[in-house]
Amino acid sequence: MAASSLPSHLNFSRLTKGFHTLRFSTRGAGFTAYVWRGEPGPVLVVNGATHGDEYEGPTVLRQWTESWRPSGLKGTVVFIPVLNEAAFYAGQRCHPGDGGNLARSFPGRGNGRVSQRLAWLFDTQVLSQAQHYIDLHSAGAAYQLFPWVGYVTQSGALESTQRAMSACFDTFWCWSGPYLPGRTLSAAFARGVAAIYVECQGAGGVDAGDAAALDRGLHHVLVRLGYVPARGPLKLKRQVERITRDVDEAHLQVHHPAPHDGLFVPSIQLAAAVRRGQVIGVVHGLEGVGASVVKAERAGKVVLLRRQRSVRKGDALATLAPI
Ligand SMILES: [Zn+2]
Repeated sequence: MAASSLPSHLNFSRLTKGFHTLRFSTRGAGFTAYVWRGEPGPVLVVNGATHGDEYEGPTVLRQWTESWRPSGLKGTVVFIPVLNEAAFYAGQRCHPGDGGNLARSFPGRGNGRVSQRLAWLFDTQVLSQAQHYIDLHSAGAAYQLFPWVGYVTQSGALESTQRAMSACFDTFWCWSGPYLPGRTLSAAFARGVAAIYVECQGAGGVDAGDAAALDRGLHHVLVRLGYVPARGPLKLKRQVERITRDVDEAHLQVHHPAPHDGLFVPSIQLAAAVRRGQVIGVVHGLEGVGASVVKAERAGKVVLLRRQRSVRKGDALATLAPI
């Protein structure tokens, strides 16, 4: 659906200047968008809770909707604190209706399963209107991670814009890699929208430092991209940056899979440096299956660690990054 064929009340370019609350919906799925409309200019879209058990994005974006009333806004800023409402209220990563992972459902289908319909709704009615996009994720309830920001590597001006956006979240490190299908960022890539994602600690809560980092990062992005006037020079900290060509390196679900169901007892800590072959933990089978020692596939820093101790065969236990 082209933006021009949207109902006029959902077409950002038709809104009057000021603050608006919009409801996007399709059969069995929908979300609320908060829109600040300023002078003509680009559109920035930011959402939280693509996965339902990630609370940093919803927490920070909701605060902005209450208190942020900018003067001199150029363009349109759209915040969607909770994109995947059903998963959010169920307190789980995936959609309770069909078990679908929204971050594997893009670009979606208007007549598909409910997760696909939600992806389709967001892609065709919101991303289709955007020039800049930020997806706020975290480790979710079952994991904890060492926070980072990243983007899909590409060439030219889009990549430099994405790099500039990532640099705004300057207390996090930057981890970028090749295109993977199904994500919100994949849909943004297909539409030529400059897009980044942010990963906060997770573990079922909201770390105050992470919330402050998101807040600071969003303010920086708005200034850096020209949505709001700068009050002085941007003072960004230098970011540790890792750009990989390996499609699996930052694919968190594929590393150190549990060899069988059981109880996971980790022997490493988040952010620790680990040697290749070092024991990262033991999965104890509970139904007559013995214990399995899981060893590090590579050397690196522990950037993701399973926190929930009950594991099913194949659940990722840890991710190590060469930083
Ligand atoms: Zn997520």
